[in-house]
Amino acid sequence: MEVIETPDKMIAWARNHAVLGRKNVLVPTMGYFHEGHLSLMRMAREYGDDVVVSLFVNPIQFGTNEDLSRYPSDFDRDAELAEKEGVSVLFSPSTDKMYPAGFQTAVTVEHLSRHLCGAHRPGHFTGVTTVVVKLFHIIRPDFAVFGQKDFQQLAIIRRMVLDLNMGVEILAHPIVREQDGLAMSSRNIYLDKDQRASALSLSKSIELACELFQKGIRDTTRLGEKVSAFISSHAGTDIDYVGFVDSNTLEFVSEADNSTRLLLAVTLFNKVRLIDNGLLAGFS
Ligand code: AMP
Repeated sequence: MEVIETPDKMIAWARNHAVLGRKNVLVPTMGYFHEGHLSLMRMAREYGDDVVVSLFVNPIQFGTNEDLSRYPSDFDRDAELAEKEGVSVLFSPSTDKMYPAGFQTAVTVEHLSRHLCGAHRPGHFTGVTTVVVKLFHIIRPDFAVFGQKDFQQLAIIRRMVLDLNMGVEILAHPIVREQDGLAMSSRNIYLDKDQRASALSLSKSIELACELFQKGIRDTTRLGEKVSAFISSHAGTDIDYVGFVDSNTLEFVSEADNSTRLLLAVTLFNKVRLIDNGLLAGFS
């Protein structure tokens, strides 16, 4: 596995490999790998000749009071894990190589970036789409793999790729969970054992919503009340949002149906913001 640290070298690598007719598949990450990231890398291997993993904690997608300065990292461990997954290139640029002095361009997907996480993290999705466009230009992937854990992010990137004719095929990987149901996240490391019990309220509340949906409750206001009450009954939980949306359009729905998805964001103990989501008709 090659470690490449500058956009120029990465562009040269991508050009050389394209000439050879090799297809490359990008997995964008912020590092501190867990089984979720590794599963995305395994999926990527099935779609091309080379897997490129980007490891970049993108400062422009963090708000001023967010956890940029303490975002977990362990480059050597990440490099070892990526190599074991058969990754060809770990692209790990510094911030000043990605955003040199004078940088001033942004890409925004307007409507889809406004609600849910967009309403609670102003500027976050513009930071995401801007860095993803940069990565697509630098790496020129044929495919790129994103996790359904960040469901709104995935929808926004699909929209951007269509709107801007980017010609990259976006692949979605299902949410990878711990045995007890907690969605894997690099941020889970911030939680101690007791706090983790409260974190489980996210996936359990999705299970609860599924059960109520199976029993015939369709009114999302009612479903939302039950979900919120369940989460709030756990210590240290502060709900950012409980949203019932159509899986395809991401529009809020008042009556749930088979394509309705519950999206959640909860801040735990004033320090860790976790997200999760699931389809009401078939959460697993
Ligand atoms: P991150 O490093 O958190 O920015 O995540 C990099 C990619 O991995 C994103 O596409 C995420 O959606 C995906 N990802 C993170 N955690 C999970 C998970 N538990 N299951 C599936 N995909 C995930």
